[in-house]
Amino acid sequence: MKRAIYPGSFDPVTLGHLDIIKRAAGLFDEVIIGILVNPGKNPWFTMEERMEMLRCTTKEIPNIEIASFEGLLVDFCRMRKIDGIIRGVRGGTDFDYELPMAQINQQLYAKTETVFLAANPAYSFISSSAVKELAVFGGDYTSMLPPEIAARMKYKENQMSKNR
Ligand code: ADP
Repeated sequence: MKRAIYPGSFDPVTLGHLDIIKRAAGLFDEVIIGILVNPGKNPWFTMEERMEMLRCTTKEIPNIEIASFEGLLVDFCRMRKIDGIIRGVRGGTDFDYELPMAQINQQLYAKTETVFLAANPAYSFISSSAVKELAVFGGDYTSMLPPEIAARMKYKENQMSKNR
């Protein structure tokens, strides 16, 4: 049984993330979507909201588990006996960031291999941060998100603008 983790912030989950999730689920017996608790980041969506959004967009994929984790990714990999870390690569900037991370993780815990999946060109311009930036300035982000997530994003956008 081969198990992978796809770690990220998923704030919110985009069509790009979903494409990687589906492809990873075809490669591994089980894929854990690992939502990172990152004290350095200020997410728009709470952990519970992000988990719920991932549950709702992946409900048709049987071999998916959704979990949160904090601390070192390799410690989680060791604990859960994870064979592969899935990362999506949209371009050179992602790769420059991802390669040393993968090499550090290899040094720390060689039993887990990092697996890079090339972004689908239809989605390679999409990022959660672009979605949020568009939301702040009133731009249309709906083509970047699964429809049920676009609706939640609209709600959050209104909440955030009330608080500004
Ligand atoms: P983002 O970079 O969108 O804020 P995350 O930090 O949650 O998202 O990224 C988690 C992983 O998903 C990373 O490996 C990232 O490169 C990948 N990823 C993010 N957006 C896309 C996309 N549009 N296509 C492919 N992979 C992506």
